[in-house]
Amino acid sequence: MKEQLARLEDIYPEIVELRRYFHQYPELSFQEVQTPAKIADYLKSLGLDVKTGVGGNGVVGLLKGGTQGKTVALRADFDALQDEKDVPYKSKNPGVMHACGHDAHTATLLGVAKVLSEMRDKLCGNVVFIHQFAEEITPGGAKPMIEDGCLDGVDVIFGTHLWTPIPIGEIGYRSGEFMAAADRFDITINGKGGHGASPHDTVDPIAIGTSLVQALQHIVSRRVDPLKPAVLTVSSFQAGDAFNVIPQKATIRGTVRTFDGEVQRFIQQEMEKITEGICQQGGASYDFTYQKGYPAVINHSYEANLVAEHASLIVGPSNTKEVLPNMGGEDFAYYLQKVPGAYFFTGAGNERKKANYPHHHPKFDIDEKSMLIASKMLTSLTLSYLQL
Ligand code: MN
Repeated sequence: MKEQLARLEDIYPEIVELRRYFHQYPELSFQEVQTPAKIADYLKSLGLDVKTGVGGNGVVGLLKGGTQGKTVALRADFDALQDEKDVPYKSKNPGVMHACGHDAHTATLLGVAKVLSEMRDKLCGNVVFIHQFAEEITPGGAKPMIEDGCLDGVDVIFGTHLWTPIPIGEIGYRSGEFMAAADRFDITINGKGGHGASPHDTVDPIAIGTSLVQALQHIVSRRVDPLKPAVLTVSSFQAGDAFNVIPQKATIRGTVRTFDGEVQRFIQQEMEKITEGICQQGGASYDFTYQKGYPAVINHSYEANLVAEHASLIVGPSNTKEVLPNMGGEDFAYYLQKVPGAYFFTGAGNERKKANYPHHHPKFDIDEKSMLIASKMLTSLTLSYLQL
């Protein structure tokens, strides 16, 4: 194993080069064309069996070891977001940017594929490299890729998110609840528009909507068990644009994050009840939609402990941190519903390298050294699982 970890150090400049290439040519979720093509070419050049168009735009590379054994899957996502920042390797696709580090996930996994492919004869078992499209937008790429067979024959799966809230050099792991179920709601309040001077002749959707936003805040703070994590965020309130007109309707949009299915159902029910009550009281009708997004990422305990064990070896015990659950969503959840495995955070934050912005921020960047750490983690987990 030492040999492979040293080899990752050797090829680290190539991993950086790959990451900067992907960074310059970001593609939005479900619109990925060049990125999967480049990934497929690279995996083919390593001699892997490569499938493209998996579940949509996904790419799967199969590395068959010299002798039979277990099959480990490693997953990296490759879609980007809307935005731009100014760095020497800045995006050449206007308005699109890798603001979550998926470019680096991809480069990291290609580096791992290179090193493991160089020792294929000694490999006892197989490695499946899952390069996933469209993580950022539901329904996501994981589900269709699984339906298209990317987990067939797979015994275990690992994945990591390079994570700027955690400093470079640390690994964050956790058994059980790791990331939240991420749902979306849309409420339209249909009032009756009119002149701003004559509110009595209207049904004001803004007045009703503001009461509703206030009331929704009471669900998590007053109705949900404080020991069960939940978030209800109203992130959009749109209504009217003239100073003297009461608009016809208001739209309210937001997200609910939970870990527990019962809490999730309860919040949805309460939201609907409150919306109905407040709209009825105000004389408005409404449309309420609640869309379930990705389920919660629940790590399997054996694999999560394996992550901790290998993190201790690679970054040292004091840099191996058991983290609290994160309220962000991830469609890695779907893989963990099918096969055992674990998702973990590889620290990528470093103020000195301007890698101290949160994920999805327009200035988001990572400390690229995190790719070396992540590649060592994935390599080490794979080799130990295949008992080399
Ligand atoms: Mn992400």
